[in-house]
Amino acid sequence: TYVIAEPCVDVLDRACVEECPVDCIYEGKRMLYIQPDECVDCGACEPVCPVEAIFYEDDVPDEWERYTAANVDFFDTL
Ligand code: SF4
Repeated sequence: TYVIAEPCVDVLDRACVEECPVDCIYEGKRMLYIQPDECVDCGACEPVCPVEAIFYEDDVPDEWERYTAANVDFFDTL
C-alpha cells in the first residue's frame, strides 16, 4: 500500500484524490489518508502530490514511519 506522511498535514491539496482509480484516499481533520485494504498500489497518487507526501510503504522515510500506522489507525477509528 501507499502511505501519506507529514507533508500533507494542513495542506490537504487533494490532487491525489482526483487521481486515485479506486477512491481509497479519505479526508481527516488535518491530512488525507490512504485506506490500506483498498489501495491497489497503482502509484498514480504519488507523483501528483505537490508536497511529496506520498510514499510506497517500503519507502516511507524513517522520520515519518509512524504515518504508516497512522494511515491504518485512521480507518480503525471510523
Ligand atoms: Fe489510490 Fe493508486 Fe494511490 Fe493506492 S497507489 S492510493 S490505489 S492512487
